[in-house]
Amino acid sequence: MEEAEKIWLSPPHMGQQEENFVLQAFESNWIAPLGPHVNEFERDLESYNGVKHAVALSSGTSAIHVALTLEDIGPKDVVFCQSFTFCGSANPIFYAGSNAVFIDSEPDTWNMDPDLLEQAIEDTLASDEGLTPKVIIPVHLYGMPAKMDRINAIASKYNMIVVEDAAESLGSTFMGKKTGSWGDYGIYSFNGNKIITTSGGGALVTSKPEKAKEALHLATQARDEAPHYEHSKIGFNYRMSNVLAGIGRGQMRVLDLRVKQRRANFQRYVTFFENWNNLGLNIRFQIEKSDSHSNRWLTAILVDPANNMGLSREDIRKHLLKHKIEARPLWKPMHQQPVFKGVKYYGRGVSDYLFENGLCLPSGSNLTDDNFDRIFEALSELFKMKLRQQKKQLSSEF
Ligand SMILES: *Cc1c(COP(=O)(O)O)cnc(C)c1O
Repeated sequence: MEEAEKIWLSPPHMGQQEENFVLQAFESNWIAPLGPHVNEFERDLESYNGVKHAVALSSGTSAIHVALTLEDIGPKDVVFCQSFTFCGSANPIFYAGSNAVFIDSEPDTWNMDPDLLEQAIEDTLASDEGLTPKVIIPVHLYGMPAKMDRINAIASKYNMIVVEDAAESLGSTFMGKKTGSWGDYGIYSFNGNKIITTSGGGALVTSKPEKAKEALHLATQARDEAPHYEHSKIGFNYRMSNVLAGIGRGQMRVLDLRVKQRRANFQRYVTFFENWNNLGLNIRFQIEKSDSHSNRWLTAILVDPANNMGLSREDIRKHLLKHKIEARPLWKPMHQQPVFKGVKYYGRGVSDYLFENGLCLPSGSNLTDDNFDRIFEALSELFKMKLRQQKKQLSSEF
């Protein structure tokens, strides 16, 4: 028998047009970090997300760094960042030599808890450290929108800037408005595992034309206008290449389809786990509220051993791995990361619980029926074993 191929967590999924756009880049010799694809990709991002200006960059992380630089964030400022996220949300705070405060998630959206955020801001204002609360970085984890109405209200109350990390949520909406379009800045990522990809890439979006112009300037080594190379500030080499933007243009054409496909994956998992929940398990999901529409980038489950006959997310992860199926624990919160030891944190144990019990399942938009059969067979095998053990245990107790 042929050996089964590995089922990955979230592999790239190309449509029909990407290769043509890349070939065009070669044929026209626009291989540089500027060119027609970069411009068109930016226009696509603007119209899709309902934002005035998009700047295509080399990554989502660099987009956050540029946003913080545009606001002159430094050692006297405080940036309040969701703790439950990928390190790309937080690292730029430290590139900018600023101060982070990590904020826990709320149980319903798994995203930044607005009450804790406000408490942290109040405490910063009341302390005698001389630091100013400047920026809030909420994240739409796994595609699920954070409560942007409340976070924006807090930002305007304290005269702060919102950098909305929509790296995982391209295509998601909150109250009918695209994620990434709520903040003063929004950032997207087109890394290889995201809902669409340019192999590596990102974008910064904003409604302010002067900020977009300055972002472009900063991202191209802050070169001033002159026939020679003239610089009056420190810039970055963060621009997206025209070749990669060609991939991005093709991917934008299938983005809505990818959202549908990822949401369909989620529904398949729900149906499967509901059957097992009826038999005694208690697997839970990230809940989508009526004001939210998630792209369901990754399907994530919660497996609390206390309600699942002792079964843990690690039992499931390891079992799937034996069957060559990749699953991954949820993001380890930033406040638990060794590198951020000593950074202030406001929490109530929500993200700790989520990390302890949460697992991301294969969620690629190119998962086949056969792939799902394999995943469900492997899971069923484990669950049946568990139920049998449980029955034996129960009968031996009588
Ligand atoms: C992927 C990701 C980023 C960073 O994007 P890169 O393009 O990999 O730099 C930032 N934040 C979150 C939440 C992400 O998932």
